[in-house]
Amino acid sequence: MQRTYAGTLLVAALVGCNAGVRTSGAPATTVSFGGATLDHEQLRRVLADMPKGGDLHNHMSGSVYAESYVRWAAEDGVCIVRATATSVRGPCAQMSDRVPATQVLADSALQRDIIDAWSMRAWNPARESGADHFFATFAKFSVAASGARFGDMVAEDASRAAAQHVSYLELMANPEGSSISRLGTRAGMSTDFAAMRARIDGMGLHDSLVAISRMIDRAEARERELLRCGTPQADAGCTVVVRYLYQVIRSRPPEQVFAQILAGYEIQAVDPRVVGFNLVAPEHGDVAVRDFSLHMSMIDKLHGDFPTAHITLHAGELAVGVFSAEQLASGLDPAAVLRSHIRQSVEAGHAERIGHGVDVLGEEDSAGLLREMAQRHILVEIALTSNDLILGVRGAQHPLHAYLAAGVPVALATDDPGVSRSDMTQEFVKAVEEQQLDYPTLKRMVRSSLEHAFAEPAVKARLQAQLEADLIRFERDHIR
Ligand SMILES: [Zn+2]
Repeated sequence: MQRTYAGTLLVAALVGCNAGVRTSGAPATTVSFGGATLDHEQLRRVLADMPKGGDLHNHMSGSVYAESYVRWAAEDGVCIVRATATSVRGPCAQMSDRVPATQVLADSALQRDIIDAWSMRAWNPARESGADHFFATFAKFSVAASGARFGDMVAEDASRAAAQHVSYLELMANPEGSSISRLGTRAGMSTDFAAMRARIDGMGLHDSLVAISRMIDRAEARERELLRCGTPQADAGCTVVVRYLYQVIRSRPPEQVFAQILAGYEIQAVDPRVVGFNLVAPEHGDVAVRDFSLHMSMIDKLHGDFPTAHITLHAGELAVGVFSAEQLASGLDPAAVLRSHIRQSVEAGHAERIGHGVDVLGEEDSAGLLREMAQRHILVEIALTSNDLILGVRGAQHPLHAYLAAGVPVALATDDPGVSRSDMTQEFVKAVEEQQLDYPTLKRMVRSSLEHAFAEPAVKARLQAQLEADLIRFERDHIR
């Protein structure tokens, strides 16, 4: 069970050398960890071996490394528009500005440019903001990341997780594309959410959800094939438990967001592998800002119909500097936006977990909010690399210690490890080097990741028992 999935060999090698991503300031030369004094490479080796529980915040399309997307694009006959480094459907010969992706594999300079455009590898903050470069990557590789590669993505994620002792993944995806959004368009917007729900259900939403379930069946069959599960050569990724979170794209018109939120609730009963939903797309975007409270009221209203459904919400993935000059010129007040998204997500959005929560100290009555989150055991999914690259928030600016001091449960997560050129081990390294966390705190966070997983109770109990056994092994080898 220890063979490595061939498709991730390259990834493992890249991750090992941090893949050329700008790092946020020079780390301390040595740190004290687990009773030893370790330099950066020693710390990375120890933390690579640490059992890490679950990665609860991981967008599937952003989790895959650009090298894999280029390879799949070449195999799938996808073309690349050279000027914009954007993947488009073939045939390529009809248009002079595009080349077959096979040519990218054969041309190392072109390959370098594409990988830089599809990730944060050579991002230059003097040319564009981290948020702009980061979010632009998704449109560039989207054709290479087609639904036909769903199973390949799961295989890459599971194999990489196993190699870092991550036993559980919740992958965010919306594999159906736009079909459910279109039901929302057909239904039209109304303030009568019950009537909207009835119309969308009546249009056959259930059939679309069954179709998603079939896509997951096919993806997992492909994953098992790629990882050779059930054979003597099985990749260790076969042991990783994978669950899914349905992604609601909040930059879309309200009637489409409503249809997707409804789908996020209903699919949990159709397919138990889809264990919750989340709202995605940049929280600082115009529509996300304008409709934030409307989205929360949609979730709140439907929650009455699905009281046991799981919800985790991106909230507070904001910093004053993330808003564009156009937004500021149009009168947007960043402080006003930063004042309430986390509280709204907890109180109206019924979030059991919060993604990022970076701006919590800018919220109105942040002390009261932190107390409320601790009391209600609302976990914050902390993504240090992503927050550094997208928001420029790092080190002492990050509120991780405020959450810890308030007793709010936290767990480390990768967010978009392919785009960020990171992995879970890097998140742990940053937690020690940049946040000065000690081993007992990391261990508590690892346990929290499984306690707050949305997987069914029997699976969680099994993973938790395995984690305790793995921690004993790790401590025997590495902790004094
Ligand atoms: Zn995210």
